[in-house]
Amino acid sequence: MTLLDDLQFLIAKYHIKPRISIGQCFCIDPFLLRRMVTYSSVTEKDVVLEIGAGFGFLTRLLTDVAKDVITIELDPKLVKAIKEILRDKENIRIIQGNFLNIHLPNFTKIVSNPPYSISSPLILRLFRLNFQCAVLTLQKEFVQKLIAQKGNKTYGSLSVIASYSASIKKLENVSRESFYPHPNVDSTIILVKPQKPLFNVGDKRFFFKMVRRFFTNRNKKLQNAIKFFIRNEFKITNDAIKKLIKEFPYLDSKVYDLTPEEFGIISYKLYSIFKETKNTVAE
Ligand code: SAH
Repeated sequence: MTLLDDLQFLIAKYHIKPRISIGQCFCIDPFLLRRMVTYSSVTEKDVVLEIGAGFGFLTRLLTDVAKDVITIELDPKLVKAIKEILRDKENIRIIQGNFLNIHLPNFTKIVSNPPYSISSPLILRLFRLNFQCAVLTLQKEFVQKLIAQKGNKTYGSLSVIASYSASIKKLENVSRESFYPHPNVDSTIILVKPQKPLFNVGDKRFFFKMVRRFFTNRNKKLQNAIKFFIRNEFKITNDAIKKLIKEFPYLDSKVYDLTPEEFGIISYKLYSIFKETKNTVAE
């Protein structure tokens, strides 16, 4: 049993031409959607956030168990459609907009098949928010990057930032056949639980930014990555940089060879210098 017939009916009725470029691949496996709701353990106490409502198949299931559902959908045509499709539901708030730049109301959990086109900025935004857990279906390769450990070739800034910010559990792999139109990648469902910081980084935003900058050249020696970062971000002379750099550990290690905790130590040190010199770091 799939939802393909229902979906094709709705696509025709509302004259929607699915655009894969903005992640418009709709889940047609009703059992998969049910499992996502089960994984999230949503109850009538929860306010659930959904990113990308599509035609509201997952949204409807969520309204059955949650206190309230807030769903954000970019496409005005889809917003119009789901307002009609879900008109029998009272515990739903439909917001038209881009998840990446709208103001978010409070919520307790996230359950979503978000558009893959915004995976990185989406996950970085989530790591700055407060919530109990998120059940997300994401591109399989993206999840591999998210959970990679040092030594793995997919280990990068996302892995470091994720390991600092949350515990992430792989729940199941999902075939591209579960979506229509089929995306050209497979997916993985994950459970994300934000965690208290495991180590001190000085400042979270600063840490995220530093790690991303360092990994723009993962094969660089740490000392060069630090110099480059300071030169670009701090108003400081080259002589001062030379003096400062001596105080840092792991100078001869390659960027890809540092653990998240080691990046934390570097960030903590850099941030204190940044504060002392009262520099401004651009976003
Ligand atoms: N949850 C649905 C739809 C998944 S497709 C399902 O399971 O079938 C992803 C949806 O996200 C599409 O409807 C697309 O229009 C929407 N979308 C794309 N970019 C978005 C953004 N930046 N913010 C919010 N929604 C977005």
